[in-house]
Amino acid sequence: MPQNDPNLLIPNVSENLTVVSNLSVPQHSIEINTSSELNSTYNLTNNSNDIRTQVVRANSLPAIIPVVNVYLNETLNQNVIAVNAGATVAIQWDGSGTVSNCSASGDWQGEKTYFGGFELTPELREARGYSYTLTCTNSAGSASDTVVVNVGRSSSQIGCQYNNPACAIGRACIEGVCIPSSNAPNFKVAVIVNSVDYPKLTRSDVSAVLRNASSRTRLATGFGIEETSIEFRQLGRNLTNDNIADMFSDYWRRDHRYVNGIILFYKNNYTLIHGGYMLTSRNLSNSNYCNDFFSSAPARHLGSSVIYGGVLDWDEPSQDPSDPQLSDRTIHNAVSMVHEFLHSFGNGYVTEDIDHWGLACLNRMQQNGFSYEPLPGGSIAYFNICPDVVDAFRNSYSPCVR
Ligand SMILES: [Zn+2]
Repeated sequence: MPQNDPNLLIPNVSENLTVVSNLSVPQHSIEINTSSELNSTYNLTNNSNDIRTQVVRANSLPAIIPVVNVYLNETLNQNVIAVNAGATVAIQWDGSGTVSNCSASGDWQGEKTYFGGFELTPELREARGYSYTLTCTNSAGSASDTVVVNVGRSSSQIGCQYNNPACAIGRACIEGVCIPSSNAPNFKVAVIVNSVDYPKLTRSDVSAVLRNASSRTRLATGFGIEETSIEFRQLGRNLTNDNIADMFSDYWRRDHRYVNGIILFYKNNYTLIHGGYMLTSRNLSNSNYCNDFFSSAPARHLGSSVIYGGVLDWDEPSQDPSDPQLSDRTIHNAVSMVHEFLHSFGNGYVTEDIDHWGLACLNRMQQNGFSYEPLPGGSIAYFNICPDVVDAFRNSYSPCVR
């Protein structure tokens, strides 16, 4: 019967070790588990501090599946970005655990170093989603991580600018080709109303807003708006923006209802002061969602990965009560609804103001030689959004491969 040496202490090694037993192993030794594939030799220290090199049994544990993380443009957790055609993107990856091999698939190929690395893509020229998957393997199995770069069209590929006379206002744009509005698909919209805030609001009130919004967007962009559903829910008054983003996401994540945009009529501190704000769903690209309207605004990184959205107060007072258009509740809410959707196509990431019709917008358009057709109704016909942002929406239709 082997005797345990009571003087032996736990090995002092850098690897993760667990002492299984200091019984029933030969004298002067302990039994350990190690994730190493090797039956290694370890330094064991006894309690009089002299070091003996001895291990009788090192039980090789099944290795743990490695951890792989791939990310974009030096931003951890950045798995999806949207860029314009011709851009180059940095792919970085790192991993941990015991790895025997890592290989790339999708839009990159070959073996990659398991401890991490950095690569620049070539110029991404096609308007599509590029995906980069890295799979690392060991004896326990494999793990992989994927990042997606959604490439929109560069301005030189855009066919429907307002300053292109062949593509006048009222025409839509599909794959860079101007088409009459009658041939354009609709932007599908669901509406949720908090019945606690608006007990008297009816379905036909909301339908009238959607119809009004549709004729306005058709005039300015060629695309109409299609009502997919109007729901009245008892939502209370305590929803956070995270709650709302989850509610929007559940249209797809839970119910698999495809919509391009969702509007919530809800009173909270922000809608009561500002009337409304843009709020999208969560990033749904990992749930196989793909929005046919592709936001290529570099600051927002949305691509086709979200349901566009906004939160509005139905009763928002007009910012200009003397304006007969905006004092009409239907028109006001129709304009506000589209206004919030359009923010997702602009670059007002830090301050939404740069998306708005105003001095910054007019200066930017002038600098870029961007002309637009004045519409009856002035800035309201452009939803109080800068025409170059409205134009970005007009060029955003990029049907997903399904
Ligand atoms: Zn705004």
